Amino acid sequence: MRKLLMIFIIFCLYSTPALAKLNVVTTLPWIGSIAYSIGGDKIKVTVLVKANQDPHSIEAKPSMILAARKADIIMYNGLDLEIGYLPLLIESSRNPKIQPGRPGNLDCSNFVEVIEKNAASDRSMGDVHPLGNPHYHISPKNMGRVAKGIAKTLSGIDPENAQIFEKNLALFNEKLKKKQNEWASKNIRGKKFVSYHKYFEYLASEYNFRIIGYVEQKPGIPPSAAYIEALIDTMKKTKPDSILTIEYYCNNGIDLLTKRTGVKSIIVPHEVGSTSNINDWFTLMDAVFKSLE
Ligand SMILES: [Zn+2]
Repeated sequence: MRKLLMIFIIFCLYSTPALAKLNVVTTLPWIGSIAYSIGGDKIKVTVLVKANQDPHSIEAKPSMILAARKADIIMYNGLDLEIGYLPLLIESSRNPKIQPGRPGNLDCSNFVEVIEKNAASDRSMGDVHPLGNPHYHISPKNMGRVAKGIAKTLSGIDPENAQIFEKNLALFNEKLKKKQNEWASKNIRGKKFVSYHKYFEYLASEYNFRIIGYVEQKPGIPPSAAYIEALIDTMKKTKPDSILTIEYYCNNGIDLLTKRTGVKSIIVPHEVGSTSNINDWFTLMDAVFKSLE
């Protein structure tokens, strides 16, 4: 009996690590979605930020620190989007696996060609994007790169399941290619938009539409009355198709713009979970294209 018990204990000791899922913590919901596409049932995903929260102004909470403490990997957007809470979170977690420079610390922007890198350089002037445009997830091209990077990272940390991650990456790429063909046929080429915030620049360059102006004076800075007047003049001349906004920006000046110019506004979903039918990155992009069409 004692021998049997020993065998059982040894079995538990050596079998648990192989069966245990990698604990993946992501800041934003879209990262959780891509991670899940690649990791599947070999990982457990915890997402820290909710879809309806403004990702620029998140604060660290004790529950987030607790999640970070248990993480095997933390995956984040980077380009300073999480500057207000992530460094504190990682430090407070005292989790050696996720400290900067460790394999469990994954900045997804490392895989992306960042645009607007030199457009802004001074956070003290109010610009929330001093390292370039961080909203690269609204871009099929970039998500192909990020998915590949996530697969490589997961395989490095969990080599036993590397083949599964590679297979899942191949499935992701297959679906991405199919969807890219479908999205390419959408009627958005040549359209002109005014946008509240710099959310759609990556997509504009990929799908040949233009953002001709912004409601924000600078990223993160609400418009002054004089700025709005100048924008109204521009809109009357250039006649954009619509004004693009994000749910959490509400009506900061947009109603006035619509009233004075006749240009309608569209709330574009920006995150996985923004609405109940957006349950992964692909359905997010379907909804984005539908909004812009
Ligand atoms: Zn932003």
